[in-house]
Amino acid sequence: MSLRDNPGCADGFAHLKPLLRECGLLIETSVAAASVSAFSAGPAVDVAVDALRRDGLFLLAGPDHCDFCRRAYRYATEKEHGDAKAD
Ligand SMILES: [Zn+2]
Repeated sequence: MSLRDNPGCADGFAHLKPLLRECGLLIETSVAAASVSAFSAGPAVDVAVDALRRDGLFLLAGPDHCDFCRRAYRYATEKEHGDAKAD
């Protein structure tokens, strides 16, 4: 499966949480024993886009987190050197 056909790894979205908190966009509470976070999608997308403009790898969990992240990091690194393949 190519990177283009794969929705990717969602674990990196945790990187967005501190930015949303810092911008006052994050509502955090608990329901019974569960921690619950909520935010408005529109403003959160704006925060994410700004972060991605600064660092295109911002929403990846880490270079060795999982097969998808490893392949995406490798793709981005090779792309910077003009040798990209999205397979
Ligand atoms: Zn991952």
